Amino acid sequence: MMTLDPKIPSGPLETKWDRHRFGEKLVSPGNKRGMKIIVVGTGLAGASAASTLGQLGYHVECFCFQDSPRRAHSIAAQGGINAAKNYQDDGDSVARLFYDTIKGGDFRSREANVYRLAQVSMQIIDQCVALGVPFAREYGGQLANRSFGGVQVSRTFYCRGQTGQQLLLGAYSALSWQIERKQVTMHSRTEMLDLVVIDGHARGIVTRDLVSGKIDVHTAHAVVLATGGYSNIFYLSTNASGSNVTATYRAWKQGAAFANPCFTQIHPTAIPPSEEYQAKLTLMSESLRNDGRIWVPVSASDHRAPDRIPPSERDYFLERRYPRFGNLVPRDVASRAVKAVCDEGRGVGPGGHGVYLDFSDAIAQDGIDSIRERYGNLFEMYERITGEDAYRAPMRIYPAPHYTMGGLWVDYNLMSTIPGLFVIGEANFADHGANRLGASSLMQGLADGYFILPYTIGHYLATTKQGTVSLGDSAVRDVTEAVTRKIARLLQGKGRRTAASFHRALGRIMWNTCGMARTGQGLEEALREIPRLREEFWRDLTVPGSGESFNQELEYAGRVADFMEFAELLCHDALHREESCGAHFREEFQTADGEPLRDDARFAYVAAWEFRPDELPVLHREPLSFEFVKPASRNYQ
Ligand SMILES: Cc1cc2nc3c(=O)[nH]c(=O)nc-3n(C[C@H](O)[C@H](O)[C@H](O)COP(=O)(O)OP(=O)(O)OC[C@H]3O[C@@H](n4cnc5c(N)ncnc54)[C@H](O)[C@@H]3O)c2cc1C
Repeated sequence: MMTLDPKIPSGPLETKWDRHRFGEKLVSPGNKRGMKIIVVGTGLAGASAASTLGQLGYHVECFCFQDSPRRAHSIAAQGGINAAKNYQDDGDSVARLFYDTIKGGDFRSREANVYRLAQVSMQIIDQCVALGVPFAREYGGQLANRSFGGVQVSRTFYCRGQTGQQLLLGAYSALSWQIERKQVTMHSRTEMLDLVVIDGHARGIVTRDLVSGKIDVHTAHAVVLATGGYSNIFYLSTNASGSNVTATYRAWKQGAAFANPCFTQIHPTAIPPSEEYQAKLTLMSESLRNDGRIWVPVSASDHRAPDRIPPSERDYFLERRYPRFGNLVPRDVASRAVKAVCDEGRGVGPGGHGVYLDFSDAIAQDGIDSIRERYGNLFEMYERITGEDAYRAPMRIYPAPHYTMGGLWVDYNLMSTIPGLFVIGEANFADHGANRLGASSLMQGLADGYFILPYTIGHYLATTKQGTVSLGDSAVRDVTEAVTRKIARLLQGKGRRTAASFHRALGRIMWNTCGMARTGQGLEEALREIPRLREEFWRDLTVPGSGESFNQELEYAGRVADFMEFAELLCHDALHREESCGAHFREEFQTADGEPLRDDARFAYVAAWEFRPDELPVLHREPLSFEFVKPASRNYQ
């Protein structure tokens, strides 16, 4: 029977983490040398964890499926990373970052975790500066800040529109140093396909070498998953094409609880899809909403070019509906408002799937050079994709799947319900509740990897007696055979349809029924359609090539197979949560003016799902208690 013990330290919020850390047992330097830790993932979470654990003296085996750790999806992050440094002297503090994040997540996250995140945010910036990350600076040399959605202070540190790239280069250089020192062994182009659990503890992983096709087992004293999010379940998303759910989904099937899978974020400002066969969507960073104004024509029948529409005939709908936060309302709020005006027939561009993001006022006020300096690479990217110059005409943007707040359930120590399996970064569910505020994922990934996991994993290792794992152990054999069988089954596919065609079909179901707006009826329909599609997948899939060589179709088919199963869990979660909160918008539960209607009496909990073979997933509830903030209805007006 699964039990959820969040292990939240008692006592005042402000001192929980310090007291907890002091109570943690340490591993002596000599003992660390004999301990091995597996880290799967080299994005900001994985690279920061692997390099720090290497520096601490553990031996780390690190894995990623790309050809280089440096190509992890984190490299795509654009707008910035939050920290409560209060450099602008505009009223920021740890308490305010904590409050903004709890409120932004619509009171569906743990207070203790979020407070710790806000505390640690300051160390992250110092660490990254020390690693040489070239943050933007003011004239006097101090680090510059800008604002992101859902807050009224400027606390976002940035490197133009390439913050993820620069942060990852910092973490990657730290990782490379540990590889050079032989503290970390790097396995690129190696995919984790299952978790090895022995006597109830995570003791290793089963991998496939994506070049040779060789299946291997790697054992360790603990396993860390830093494998990112699953937005690609919608097929089109702003994520890297390779982002997937396989590692966390397979860990779920081995006994790790999956928390809040239906909390998926749709970002308001992506370039609208342009054709049926495109493979991904491109984000236009939220930072653009600092200076860009969002509008549509007042009248649905107004098809004039944007510069021909006078201000009085434009509807700056975010500024109108949310005068306090204006264009900087949180993502869930902005996305729903964009969808609403497009549903009214006032959308612009092909199919009416778009609204304007207009910089003309900012250019008139600050000059084109100033706007270019802040966002130049984003404007360039927009022009390369659309052929339009956004300095002269407004950008067109539309919401797109972007981030997943759901993930494997972890306690305060970032350990899952399988002892020895730790989960960090976007792969866990921990800190963002039902909606993540902008610039807070990079903060969380680096907080987990540099400053939290390295302490908490030490306590686990210091207090857990472990024997050696034999590769002949029946648990190792069983899981390896299961992986081999699954690959063989995929390769038997000699049907007519590619994995991409099934992925597109699944994405359509998910977007229509479990996307920006959900209904009980739609979700029930999805729960009937998904098994039908899955059955067709196994009957009509074609996978060319063999399993003994580099075969990206095979890799992809395996990931789609997992999405096909995981989609049902996501819909079950969305169906059971009969309330609207954050990005989870159930149409049946809304206020008279179309805002989400939470039901704290029934749903103030984390929904953690347990896998049961051949049965429906079982729901476990972790009640959320709010001692320090009072849940209120989230008002950005
Ligand atoms: C376009 C875009 C812009 C963004 N901008 C911002 C921003 O400005 N600020 C912000 O805070 N957030 C931003 N985000 C969100 C943020 O980038 C991500 O949430 C974050 O980078 C996730 O980091 P991660 O380390 O958890 O995972 P990832 O960076 O996704 O890394 C996952 C790693 O796991 C590995 N992996 C996965 N599965 C397996 C497997 N089965 N076997 C082996 N390896 C595996 C991959 O190879 C990779 O190394 C943005 C997201 C997007 C899409």
